[in-house]
Amino acid sequence: MASNAKPNIVLFGIDSLHADHMSCYGYERLTSPYLDRFASQGVLFENTFSAHIPTTSAYASMLTGMDVFSTQVVALRHQGPLRPEVKTLAEILREEGYHTICVGFDGNPSSRGFDEYLSYTAWGSWEEGRLPKAQLLNEQAIPAIDRMIAEDRPFFLFLRHMDPHAPYLPPEPYERMFFHGDECDPSNKSMEPVLAFKPFRDFLASWLPPGITDKDYVIAQYDGSIAYMDAAIQSIFTALEEHGIFDETIVAINGDHGETLYDHECWFDHHGIYDNVLHVPLMLRYPPKLPAQRRVSGYNQHKDLVPTLLELAGIDAGIDFDGRSLLPMVESRVASHESEFYITECTWMRKHGWRTPQWKLMLALEPDFHFKPPVELYNLVEDPLENCNLADELPGVVAALTARLEAWESRREAETGLPNPIHHQGDWHGLKGVGPFTSSQQAYESLYIGDASAARRLQAKSREVEENESG
Ligand SMILES: [Zn+2]
Repeated sequence: MASNAKPNIVLFGIDSLHADHMSCYGYERLTSPYLDRFASQGVLFENTFSAHIPTTSAYASMLTGMDVFSTQVVALRHQGPLRPEVKTLAEILREEGYHTICVGFDGNPSSRGFDEYLSYTAWGSWEEGRLPKAQLLNEQAIPAIDRMIAEDRPFFLFLRHMDPHAPYLPPEPYERMFFHGDECDPSNKSMEPVLAFKPFRDFLASWLPPGITDKDYVIAQYDGSIAYMDAAIQSIFTALEEHGIFDETIVAINGDHGETLYDHECWFDHHGIYDNVLHVPLMLRYPPKLPAQRRVSGYNQHKDLVPTLLELAGIDAGIDFDGRSLLPMVESRVASHESEFYITECTWMRKHGWRTPQWKLMLALEPDFHFKPPVELYNLVEDPLENCNLADELPGVVAALTARLEAWESRREAETGLPNPIHHQGDWHGLKGVGPFTSSQQAYESLYIGDASAARRLQAKSREVEENESG
């Protein structure tokens, strides 16, 4: 039977938060003053990566301590539940006597195992008006904290924030915080290619204010959403402070993946295994065991989070996680976890790759709807924004990285006894019976996100198979 000796755990899973757009990660705009202060009271990890994008696969890794080979969850539209052999953090903590509550993430394969699921409205359209998503989350989360504190057992609260996720429609005054010009200036043509991209244009038009011509206005809405959410998150910290438990609660801030804004023609979404989608924030605060004002530069991934939280809480779950605790890195006993690693994406494109501190290799497993070349190679040191594809110029580097990728696939398939799921995703695109795309033109003509309500349904897709278990 657990006792109050076990610390409470609050985990923020912030959807689509691009670390480089937070002021504590060096962004020039002051988008995250409260989280910056939070980071200064604990540990900020400068090189945390989401190895398996998008949402479904990223949270699967974040919430289980496992990689894609173990979870077998690689696609946004994953079919079926999480493998029963894999335990979620909620299941582990519930066995340890925790009261576990999930806000805003019911029905996903990796959200299995909570005692309670609370939800809030996180999707809207321009017609429905600007949506205070984080405040709606707080209206669920803060009463839940009040309720759980009254009990004689520890709690685990998972908060899935959706503010930086499209639609970016922060309420006043955040929509003007970072933009003061004329967003409808007819001489500005920067939004033309965005609104000409057929797969997304109806979705974007459903929430963008009418007549927008300036991409910088949309980027300012994204940044304003972060600033708005940042202020709302402070309300959670304040609630914990007012109960006198902030310092004895393990608080973690993590993102599932980043965001593409105007980059790589991916247009205000989170696909493409470029670093703006792979690099995510990770910050931990727990004064009894973690120093303040520590920035850690070693590499780590989502799979390392669960082992870290369990070590902080003093819980041995008896599980051989794929990830490893980050505490040795915080204590400067190790410099880094794996600095080169395998990456996957299965959202609007099916690709995988290999990232080292110097190189990024991307291999398309079928033609994509952006008409990108099948092989991309970037020198991350000389070209950190990944704009100059060197694949044709440096075939030797492509071959060497491909060999390392394939060796890793073979090793992990042997270790898990399971196939690499990226190769067995059938109708990953959601188009029944279509099979792999044979041309980029086919992909472009076939993929269509629809309007805001269709996008919402797409994210909720996996709920259909999970309804019985998440109850
Ligand atoms: Zn996501």
